[in-house]
Amino acid sequence: MSSTETSGSAGPSGPLRIVVAGGGTAGWMTAAALGHFLDRGFTVTLVESEEIGTVGVGEATIPQIRMFNQALGIDEDAFSRATQATFKLAIEFVGWGRPGERYMHAFGDVGRDVGLCAFHHYWSRGRRLGLAGPHGDYAINDIAARAGRMHRGAPLTSRNVPEMPHAFHFDAGLYAAFLRQFAEARGVVRREGKIGEVRQDAQSGDITALVLASGEEIAGDLFIDCTGFRGLLIGGAMGSGYVDWSHWLPCDRALAVPSARVENFTPYTRATAHDAGWQWRIPLQHRTGNGRVYCSAFTTDEAAAESLLAHLDAPALADPRPIRFTTGRRAEAWRGNVIAVGLASGFLEPLESTSIHLIQTAISRILKLLPGKEQTQAARDEYNRQFTFEMERIRDFIVLHYHVNQRPEPFWQAMRDMALPDTLKDRIELFRTNGHIFRHGDELFGEVGWFQVMAGQGIVPERSHGLAETIDEADLKGYLETLNGLYRREVERYPAHADFIARHCGAPALGGAA
Ligand SMILES: Cc1cc2nc3c(=O)[nH]c(=O)nc-3n(C[C@H](O)[C@H](O)[C@H](O)COP(=O)(O)OP(=O)(O)OC[C@H]3O[C@@H](n4cnc5c(N)ncnc54)[C@H](O)[C@@H]3O)c2cc1C
Repeated sequence: MSSTETSGSAGPSGPLRIVVAGGGTAGWMTAAALGHFLDRGFTVTLVESEEIGTVGVGEATIPQIRMFNQALGIDEDAFSRATQATFKLAIEFVGWGRPGERYMHAFGDVGRDVGLCAFHHYWSRGRRLGLAGPHGDYAINDIAARAGRMHRGAPLTSRNVPEMPHAFHFDAGLYAAFLRQFAEARGVVRREGKIGEVRQDAQSGDITALVLASGEEIAGDLFIDCTGFRGLLIGGAMGSGYVDWSHWLPCDRALAVPSARVENFTPYTRATAHDAGWQWRIPLQHRTGNGRVYCSAFTTDEAAAESLLAHLDAPALADPRPIRFTTGRRAEAWRGNVIAVGLASGFLEPLESTSIHLIQTAISRILKLLPGKEQTQAARDEYNRQFTFEMERIRDFIVLHYHVNQRPEPFWQAMRDMALPDTLKDRIELFRTNGHIFRHGDELFGEVGWFQVMAGQGIVPERSHGLAETIDEADLKGYLETLNGLYRREVERYPAHADFIARHCGAPALGGAA
């Protein structure tokens, strides 16, 4: 990529000037990818304001982040050291079905399908007959996560054991700094300053330049709005509205607080349900990230803060920091010559760690559809169609966690009583009655993800697939026990998570600060 100055007019034959507004995780991931993939014919400038800062959360990921790193040629262990990362095999949900109950949504497979018939059909028959344990007994990631062990690559004991997929927990501030260095080394130009004014073409409405408080003008052809919840360009200048989903996802506030590091950091994120929301715990090498997501209609800020601090593993390192949000999405994530990425494009609460993944898919869509100076409405429509589909399917998955609960508090009763999106209602019904789950199109969460959450929160299907109904009971019992034994023996050979990190990607101590 050319590193020429991007300000000023480039004319129709000059390089395509891409301006990224905002330098949080979204801005720097976008700039890093554009810097890496685009060669001559493009310039990339990123504008960020240290005075405004970033949202400062967003530290748990899903395994797809490894594809991003691999595509950019980022070494996993170097990245882990630079960001104080730990490994993540699963999310543990505590108290989501009933208070005190727990289950994991683990990455990777649960059990093994037999011919045409998915494992979960055998499991649900086994469950009804009293032969099967919790579904996590048949998932290697779940067993390793609960044992606090970690391993990468080929299994050690048997070809019948699958590899464990993994993701990371990392420090969001260190991640942005890491990507900044990466992007600048590839020609991305950074401008520090607050965007005070947005210039637009009088006829088309397209943005022509951003004017910083210093008076500096950054001209461009394509603008990527990564200004976070503000959505300065997409919402402000371009007027793309917001589709509000708070009737399905009514939590509207969060409090984030770091706590001191613990010795045996778990290889999983924990999400614990509380009276009017839930609390996350994300272990990093140098500290633990915690936060309470809650619904202001059912609790107060003071009560949420008190309960958050009362449920930490170690002393808090700062005062809880408030964040407010409205769940939903931009009506159009691409409008005119502006594409919104990250929080500027919408927000789904971080229950399944999907936001950073959504940044990744937005970047991939931008690169696939890479607009030139002449941008067509057909390309915008396709982008927005894919964006909407992806957001709606993840929204349904998150609503599922809230809806299928047996908790006593008024907030949870309201979640049980809410009118569901039809797409979700049909899915739950199909599983409850027949044990069927189908992935829709290329939605993010597949059958195994839906199964773990529905089963984990207490739905046992009334019947199974015909093939699973005909298997001999003794054979079914033997099959389930063999799988569990195979996976347990494998995991016993894995090192403790903390030892694995020390061996491969231990980071220098930072003094425990957030
Ligand atoms: C409570 C909470 C928990 C979360 N947890 C997770 C998680 O575990 N996993 C996950 O994947 N995601 C999570 N997310 C989402 C994740 O934090 C975001 O997707 C990610 O951080 C990207 O944010 P962003 O870059 O879009 O916005 P921000 O971090 O807010 O960055 C916005 C940027 O725009 C700049 N800016 C804004 N206005 C101006 C202006 N006028 N002039 C110049 N610059 C400007 C800011 O300075 C900043 O650089 C969470 C979000 C919340 C709210």
